[in-house]
Amino acid sequence: MPAERLKLKPPTEGHKIVIAEGGLKVPDDPILPIIEGDGIGPDVTRAARRAISAAVERTSGGRRRIVWYDVPAGEMALFKFGELLPQATFDAIREYVVALKGPLTTPVGGGFRSLNVALRQGLDLYANTRPVYWIPGVPSPMKHPERMDIVIFREATEDVYAGIEWARGSEEAGKLRAFLESEFRVKIPEDAGIGLKPISERKTKRLVRKAIRYAIENHRRSVALVHKGNIMKFTEGAFRDWGYEVARQEFPKDTITLDEVNRSFGGTPPKGKVVMKDVIADNMFQQLLTRTEDYDVLATPNLNGDYLSDSAAAQIGGLGVAPGGNIGEAHAVFEPIHGTAPKYAGMDKVNPTAEILAGVMMLEYLGWRESGEALRNAVKKTIAQKIVTYDLARQMEGAKEVKCSAFADAVIRNL
Ligand code: NAP
Repeated sequence: MPAERLKLKPPTEGHKIVIAEGGLKVPDDPILPIIEGDGIGPDVTRAARRAISAAVERTSGGRRRIVWYDVPAGEMALFKFGELLPQATFDAIREYVVALKGPLTTPVGGGFRSLNVALRQGLDLYANTRPVYWIPGVPSPMKHPERMDIVIFREATEDVYAGIEWARGSEEAGKLRAFLESEFRVKIPEDAGIGLKPISERKTKRLVRKAIRYAIENHRRSVALVHKGNIMKFTEGAFRDWGYEVARQEFPKDTITLDEVNRSFGGTPPKGKVVMKDVIADNMFQQLLTRTEDYDVLATPNLNGDYLSDSAAAQIGGLGVAPGGNIGEAHAVFEPIHGTAPKYAGMDKVNPTAEILAGVMMLEYLGWRESGEALRNAVKKTIAQKIVTYDLARQMEGAKEVKCSAFADAVIRNL
């Protein structure tokens, strides 16, 4: 079947968010692109958009509203338009600046690496941001899940996401092996695949800068730089050094290093200062389990952050309740951390909490904090009433199991 050429029609109502020098100018009726996504994506995004719209309308007394703009991507777009990420969809997100998305299938093998990676790299959404906090009542494997309240800033454009790899036996791997041996006397086994991970000063600094700014603006206590610099000195070790440098050079009044706190302040940070510290990645995993409350904002290179954010999410009840944001200098796309769970597609069954909380992050990013807070509180209230979807119901005593859409109805009632 020949693919139709995709032309999108933007909504006739609403206004664009404008990127201004001092930040975003958000109208009272912003047009926000939404990608429903694959598998369970349509179920969770439809539930979430109703809850988000209701929160905005109620908290603003009807003064504000979101004008959603459906844009296709994923399997449906591939089937109808021959492209997983149509150019028109990409252009719409670029034009309207802030978007919400559901999960998208990443085809295994083939030419397209990942739609999510393409979006992040194309719009330079370099900070993958994941707040991880516990909602009372959500079953957790921890004795004290309430101690977890962190925000992970994970670099999203380089390190392993730069995707520089050559297969075992390929011509490129052969050339590189020969070059490394003749120029640097470095021997790599003939049967090895080879990967390179660049970590640059500019990209590290802009990520850590964002993490520090967030910490200052949100009255957080510390920023921990998570690295593996004991082994990889010029990539991971440099990430740590550049991170401290940003704090020292750009935020000298607002930050202090942990060393200085211990040396000059007897271990108690002066009021109002964000403490800069660094933790080796493997240690970070045990620290998050054993001294959870000592951590607040984390800044990490790509791969460390990938492992850490899923592991941290598990501590507060799993992927069904964990949201994320992909944020650049101005553009931002918010999404749940979970995937498309294809076995539940179209069953109106799964938990839309992560997608709704991605909406909370989006509202906060728009500067509509009171709407975000109201929505988060309504989710908390609903779960406290034990009105939950199957995933939580199977672990909770006395729960009332509801469908995905009915959970959103309950959240809206609780607004
Ligand atoms: P997954 O889709 O996250 O699902 C794994 C399991 O997690 C599900 O079977 C289900 O567990 C549970 N789960 C996920 N979302 C849930 C929700 N909203 N409510 C309740 N339970 C939920 O992981 P996957 O099977 O590894 O990945 C499937 C596809 O998604 C792949 O193509 C992958 O590439 C893609 N993916 C996309 C994104 C993204 O778009 N950002 C992220 C991750 C993965 P039970 O079976 O125990 O009920």
